Amino acid sequence: MNMEEKRAPHVLIFPFPGQGHIHQMLTLAELLCHSSIEVTFLNTHHNHKRLLQFTNIQSRFARFPGLFQHESISDGAPEDHPRPSGFLPDLTDVMKMNSIMSPHLRNLILNIRDDPGRSPVTCIICDGLMTFAIDVANELRIKSIAFRTISASCFWAYLCYPHFQDDKDLDEKALSVPGMEKENFFFRRRDLPGFSRQFPENPLISDSVLELCIKETFNSARASALILNTIEDLESPFLAQIRTKFQKVYSIGPLHSFAKNLRTATKDQTHNHNGLWEEDRSCLTWLDSQPPKSVVYVSFGSITVLTRSQLSELWHGLVNSGYRFLWVRRPGLVSGEEDSDIITGERGFVVKWAPQEEVLGHRAVGAFVTHSGWNSTLESMAAAVPMICWPNSADQPVISRVVGELWKVGVDMKDVCDRSTVEETVRYVMGGGGGEMGRSTAEIADLFRKSVVEGGSSYSDFQDLVKDLKSN
Ligand code: UDP
Repeated sequence: MNMEEKRAPHVLIFPFPGQGHIHQMLTLAELLCHSSIEVTFLNTHHNHKRLLQFTNIQSRFARFPGLFQHESISDGAPEDHPRPSGFLPDLTDVMKMNSIMSPHLRNLILNIRDDPGRSPVTCIICDGLMTFAIDVANELRIKSIAFRTISASCFWAYLCYPHFQDDKDLDEKALSVPGMEKENFFFRRRDLPGFSRQFPENPLISDSVLELCIKETFNSARASALILNTIEDLESPFLAQIRTKFQKVYSIGPLHSFAKNLRTATKDQTHNHNGLWEEDRSCLTWLDSQPPKSVVYVSFGSITVLTRSQLSELWHGLVNSGYRFLWVRRPGLVSGEEDSDIITGERGFVVKWAPQEEVLGHRAVGAFVTHSGWNSTLESMAAAVPMICWPNSADQPVISRVVGELWKVGVDMKDVCDRSTVEETVRYVMGGGGGEMGRSTAEIADLFRKSVVEGGSSYSDFQDLVKDLKSN
């Protein structure tokens, strides 16, 4: 192909309909626009509306005239249909997404191609949980890249899953990592990815969602490359294993730090607000009046649902620890209760949705009680805030294991939820975590800082990705 025939790169980014997925892929969109690549960002109608309503997406992307546009397609349910997981009509509808969205995606790409005012799509970057988009790309002879929004450790655990025996002892060694024999690090059965904590009453649903995640992990290899929001030096043993099965892997994380650097460099004052709920910034003012490292920040992300009794144990443990706390009480956090209150007293502050990156970067925050979602974990490590991990489902049990046992930047409290353990763990982490935790959090935050500047591994992988996207 000569220079005249070369098409301008136009990437269609298609996230899975969930907060954490949209957040990472929108940040990638911003980085690509910074590199002069045209991006079309595709959401479900429902999430598209919420993005416009609650985020600063319009003003953020107005900086890239002609380079960014949105599109949306149906998730198959009417707009007013209840969406218990916040984003999908039903989490189990993940299984039906393929047949619902595939024809809409195909039509959209063909319509863009036939529109004389628009340049054709040259690459689809799809969520690695929606690999039907790779099939659409192949059919239309367009390049595709899979973006999986989980850690490399978890991605690798999914790749290993079919080899496990159905062993009932949850504390037995289930998986050791090639090359890490010296560290004596391994995953127990309870550390493996799964959904049984999320659907305790229905093992059939938990098994079928797990099966889908495993299948999609293998299917991602049909794309020309895989993108992970991780850092080479943090997860090299896992990445080495993934590379034996995937032709090209780009590790370009942490994306939120990457974007922040670019904004600082271009004197852009906007912050990374990709949430699907309205942020309550009053907690930043409250934090301003607290002493340094005196507050425990508590948030369980966008999907986790607690029972009333779990909420009560966590709350009592926290209050009994004697520390101040900032708690995110997202609508729907407690099962069956839309809006019951947490009593805060003088030491606590509650919001429905916080500007989390800014909260974690605040000098008053000393620890994070988290469900170990990958975004929250990356944001906490980048801000050098140690974690108290209470994982719930999917990739979270894997992440809390590496956080506690490998990276040593937190304590894994999985499968335990009683007030005395919570109290003791909060005291331990707020008290410095035995000294080692302070050192590890500082070292990893430094590693993150170096990875996203010129000369760093994520920086250079991102440049390679841009080259790849421009060479069509
Ligand atoms: N988040 C936020 N405000 C909140 C709670 C969460 O902005 O009050 C953001 C958080 O910064 C993170 C995302 O929501 O980027 C949650 O993603 P994660 O992968 O941690 O968990 P998920 O929601 O996917 O379970």
